[in-house]
Amino acid sequence: MKKALMSKKYFYVTTPIYYVNDLPHIGHAYTTIAADVLARFKRMDGFETFFLTGTDEHGSKVEQTAQKNNEQPIELANRVVQRFQNLWKKLLITHDDFIRTTEERHKKVVTHMIKTVLDQGDIYLGNYEDWYCTPCETFWTKTQLDNKGRCPECHREVQKLKEESYFFKMSKYEAPLIDYINKNPHFIEPESRRNEILSFIKEGLRDLSISRTTVTWGVPMPQTDKTNFPHIVYIWFDALLNYVSGLGYFDNKDRFQKFWPEAIHLIGKDILRHHTIYWPTFLMALGLPLPKKIFAHGWWTHEGEKMSKSKGNFIEPEALIDEYGVDPLRYFVLREIPFGSDGDFSNSALIGRINSDLADDYGNLLNRTITMTLKYQEGKVLKPSSITPIDQELVEKYTSMRISYKKNMDDIAFHKALTALWEAIRFTNKYIDSNEPWKLSKDESKKERLNDVLGFTLEAIRIASVLISPFMPQTAGKALSALGIQGFSCGTAKEKGIDALCGFWENQKEFKVQKTDPLFKKYEISL
Ligand SMILES: [Zn+2]
Repeated sequence: MKKALMSKKYFYVTTPIYYVNDLPHIGHAYTTIAADVLARFKRMDGFETFFLTGTDEHGSKVEQTAQKNNEQPIELANRVVQRFQNLWKKLLITHDDFIRTTEERHKKVVTHMIKTVLDQGDIYLGNYEDWYCTPCETFWTKTQLDNKGRCPECHREVQKLKEESYFFKMSKYEAPLIDYINKNPHFIEPESRRNEILSFIKEGLRDLSISRTTVTWGVPMPQTDKTNFPHIVYIWFDALLNYVSGLGYFDNKDRFQKFWPEAIHLIGKDILRHHTIYWPTFLMALGLPLPKKIFAHGWWTHEGEKMSKSKGNFIEPEALIDEYGVDPLRYFVLREIPFGSDGDFSNSALIGRINSDLADDYGNLLNRTITMTLKYQEGKVLKPSSITPIDQELVEKYTSMRISYKKNMDDIAFHKALTALWEAIRFTNKYIDSNEPWKLSKDESKKERLNDVLGFTLEAIRIASVLISPFMPQTAGKALSALGIQGFSCGTAKEKGIDALCGFWENQKEFKVQKTDPLFKKYEISL
């Protein structure tokens, strides 16, 4: 125990940096909520945590859109960045830093890293000729195109492009990368994505074009005397380097030392290759250790349909927050489907979760317990002086739940952590039902037992609320203050860790409860 307190533990989590040519939608919110929940969980579990998000602001698409709008690319970026930042505020996101690829602190890292790899001979000048998808900013070989000869990712038209380009010797790192993935089975998750990437690499890695002469909005390639064309660093190399520049590679070396390579990169499955091939091979070339894990989550459909600009059926997180509140949304997206699988978003599914899991199970548990404590005990309950077998069963239920919760959170299996938590909450409701405090209250000789039953219930609610807090920080705070515990926040680091926070009667000596409004509103499902 002492040793665990003494040796510092570090945790670094990232979202992808979001492209400013997009407006924020549920997909962005999903990854960012997941990263926030992990960051809050780790902070509460005694880890020094760093959570990074940001925006990807260079590239030809931004240049073109800005031109159409008659504005400078940086003006476009500034506008969209504001929208992302406002949404993160509404979603209660607790990132420690926000990196923009147009910032000096980022650009100088890109220049330095490219120059390092150039100087050691892993980057060379050549000619590129292949099929280019402008919306995806990606070159494809003929065999990679879909059966209509279009982009395999977005299925739009591609153009044959030939240009002088710098190449990164990615092929050189093919064998080391395969070896690394084999030796580190949790490096790429879920397992299906790992297998997909392994078989892709085994087909052979080609050297990668890492500069463009057709783009001007980006970081210039470091000067070389071999070419007369100005080259701009390929947007993916520019973007991926945010994970080290945002951590402070140059401007906060202490932070960088502490947190690299503890990184867990959460990404959408559409950018898997960039993160599991380009990024690790480039780090190998730089001689930097690889991140701990790259976890690719699935995509949401909306009422059974793929979301797209043309259908105009993108889910706007702001509207959902206004309608249902931020906490129910945060809970729903991580409870409804396993992180890593695809899932469908429907209002009826969201309402179903709010009404049953949130209002009926958790909200009602708090409400009935507070009401009884006020009615029978004038709001005050003391730490029980004895423990019966049925109380012991409740304590054991919570101990096994806590173990399962922690393991599943560390495995990024949010839905399983929440399932375990909700089983314990439902068990607590049954505990009340079988102990019938309303009967105990009528019998003067059962006064002590009444105190103890309400005490164990309140302690169970306290523990459940602490573990709910990474998912629903506002609700957990409200529930805890109704129990007389003010100012609890999982947004700040806890010294002790979850086990110490969640032991029955380890810190709690009594409860003084206060009347509170219902935690959740119930909704009718409109068909
Ligand atoms: Zn495409």
